[in-house]
Amino acid sequence: MAIVDCSMPGQALQDLRCEVAVVGSGCGGATVARVLAEAGRDVLVLEEGGDYVGPERLTQRDLPMYDQLYADRGSRTNADRTIAVLSGRVLGGGGVINACDVVPVHEATWRYWQKVHGLADWSPETMAPFVAKALQDLEASPIPENMVNRNNQLLREGAKALGFAGEVMHHNRVQCLGLGTCLIGCPAGAKRNPRMVAIPKAMTAGARVLVRARVLQIVNGKGAEKTLLVRTLDPKGYRENGNFQVHCKRVVLAAGPVGTVSILRASSLGNGWLGRGLSLQPQVAVVAQFKERVNAFDGIPQSYAVTAFERNDDAKGLHGYRIEGIFGTPGILGSLVTQAGVAGKEAMAALPQVAACLVLVPDDPVGEIVHPWSGGRKIEYTLTDEWKTRAREGVRTAMRCYLAAGATQVLVASAPPIVVKSERDLGLVENLSFAPATIGLISAHQQGGTRVAVSADQGVCAPDGQVWGAPGVYVCDGGVFPSTSSTHTMTPILSVGHALASRWLAGWKA
Ligand SMILES: Cc1cc2nc3c(=O)[nH]c(=O)nc-3n(C[C@H](O)[C@H](O)[C@H](O)COP(=O)(O)OP(=O)(O)OC[C@H]3O[C@@H](n4cnc5c(N)ncnc54)[C@H](O)[C@@H]3O)c2cc1C
Ligand code: SF4
Repeated sequence: MAIVDCSMPGQALQDLRCEVAVVGSGCGGATVARVLAEAGRDVLVLEEGGDYVGPERLTQRDLPMYDQLYADRGSRTNADRTIAVLSGRVLGGGGVINACDVVPVHEATWRYWQKVHGLADWSPETMAPFVAKALQDLEASPIPENMVNRNNQLLREGAKALGFAGEVMHHNRVQCLGLGTCLIGCPAGAKRNPRMVAIPKAMTAGARVLVRARVLQIVNGKGAEKTLLVRTLDPKGYRENGNFQVHCKRVVLAAGPVGTVSILRASSLGNGWLGRGLSLQPQVAVVAQFKERVNAFDGIPQSYAVTAFERNDDAKGLHGYRIEGIFGTPGILGSLVTQAGVAGKEAMAALPQVAACLVLVPDDPVGEIVHPWSGGRKIEYTLTDEWKTRAREGVRTAMRCYLAAGATQVLVASAPPIVVKSERDLGLVENLSFAPATIGLISAHQQGGTRVAVSADQGVCAPDGQVWGAPGVYVCDGGVFPSTSSTHTMTPILSVGHALASRWLAGWKA
């Protein structure tokens, strides 16, 4: 069976029927579609994005790739525009554009959810087999030493000189060519992501997959037979150009926190927790200038992490901070250059001597996805003072690592920029206010908004992902986590996808 592209003329899409409709095809949606289809269930996957595989479609060109692979073409932000909220909009979701780091939920965080949030079924022991399945899907392995590029080596050299612990990360690449454009898709097909693993397996087991199909609303979401109102999109996904309906017994919403909350809101489903408890896990970019040629754009972008300051415990879950080498495509880097005109051009010309990292600072789930009466959708998120203090600490540590590795200067592209040339300058980091319009932070790991909880007065979904008050409507994406799950969310979501789907199968009558 082929993937059905709803943008193509001549598709018979008036009135589709299935047992389980899965909305969204990322780590959550693709995983449950595959597990349910392999168990013989009649599954239909609806994905708003297009199907992008292979070098003809994944062209390594910044603008068309952001345009086609990212939600809101990569321009989504929180309401005060401090944080770029990045997520995928393509068959396979965020897995197609992510950096391939494999970091499962730490045992202490499962324990925290179990102890503090009362999620008895989410213990590390219960989840272990599902984490194992996720790691198997990902073909997770350590990044080989010869693929740790100079950018990541420099971070490691600095951390080692200062005695900070760190590690070469695990990834989900097989036969990687080191092209370096992971964040705009892998033309070589090296990522073991949902598009390459779960979607083909789901289809082999009989699942139908539709792309350029945007789900707007669930009608009769509390009843036995539900109807999805779906709009078809044009080939680039710019405009709606048709509509059809899907009739089903069960719906799994896996459209990512922003998409899933919007569909539930439009369907008048969910309770007062809907949209609340959002974690964006904002990240701060730190950039260093070296005399040597770093060529950070060559090879795997992200391979080494300074882990010495990361904390996991069963009283608080994940906190502290972590620093990871990273490099983006020229478009991303260009957007970080603070100088204008000739000075900006010179800064871009110096790119081969530049190294960069991200300070990943886990947050409390303080954000909210709101839908004002005037229409549209807003992501309300205000950085807390505690987060800012930790972020400044992380920035200072990253700067110290680069100085120890021989950087001539290290900076954060804020307004005004914080530029440090020696340890004596590190006090300048206190000037980082993180005020709106002074800095561009990055969120790649949105979680919450439809958190699971043991009762309807504490969250949107029951611990099995079923929306309280809407039997047969489930959520399975990053939205279900009661707090931030890990410094990287792909493996946690895949793990929960396996766990929830297997629970549903045990409970559903044929
Ligand atoms: C740039 C970037 C780098 C990252 N790097 C890493 C990394 O190295 N390691 C890691 O573990 N994690 C990483 N992540 C995070 C990880 O990829 C995501 O958390 C994960 O892919 C999210 O999975 P999901 O199933 O929750 O949702 P998504 O993958 O966001 O999937 C949701 C899908 O639903 C579709 N959709 C939305 N609304 C609708 C609708 N109304 N109708 C139909 N379809 C809809 C979207 O188009 C999308 O394809 C990264 C993320 C980004 C953006
Ligand atoms: S570095 Fe590897 S995974 Fe990333 S785009 Fe290149 S070949 Fe693909």
